[in-house]
Amino acid sequence: MVETAETITAMRILVVEDEPRLQRNLAKALREEGYAVDAASDGGDGIFKAETYDYDAIVLDVMLPKLDGWEILERLRKTKQTPVLMLTARDAPSDRVRGLDTGADDYLIKPFDLPELLARVRALIRRSANKTTNNIEIGDVSLDTRTRSVTRNGNPVTLTAREFAILEYLVLHRGEVISRTELFEHLFDENDDTLSNLLDVHIFSIRKKLGAEIIATRRGQGYCVEK
Ligand code: CA
Repeated sequence: MVETAETITAMRILVVEDEPRLQRNLAKALREEGYAVDAASDGGDGIFKAETYDYDAIVLDVMLPKLDGWEILERLRKTKQTPVLMLTARDAPSDRVRGLDTGADDYLIKPFDLPELLARVRALIRRSANKTTNNIEIGDVSLDTRTRSVTRNGNPVTLTAREFAILEYLVLHRGEVISRTELFEHLFDENDDTLSNLLDVHIFSIRKKLGAEIIATRRGQGYCVEK
């Protein structure tokens, strides 16, 4: 097989399907599209893999031994937003409602055509890549960790890379008091001893741009972005 750029940068997909022949055909078709494919033949193995690995998408049959597809989806959604395409045998409206409530991203009713499934999987992966904008709101400030941009009351604010890194770290540990030592360890080169003052300068500058209340100082303990 000639390797193309697509086969090298493979997306990884999990197929959870207990019918051996369908599982084989699905895996084969997906591999031919250039995806790396893992397979699980029952709900137990399915949920284990889905929770353990970061897949780009999961093709999930509803009727499975051990745990059914709904139970897998429900458990998975407590920790992960992996895009899920459900395979359902019944075109029952109640199934669709249940799927939406549980957090399925798309459905396909058996029997289906493989090209249709491949198109749905592609769309799912594309949609999920687009929606990974990671917007975090802190009062009137909004932080996008993907584009590394910040707005205040909807107006763009320019932070330096250092300022953004400090704010992002505090926001990702929101509600916790982060010591100066921890901030240094995560953000700065440890051999640079001029930083003690600089951290204050960065914090001062962030507050000036985004409002004093954005970062609270806990005297003798560190800094905190409050919940
Ligand atoms: Ca089945």
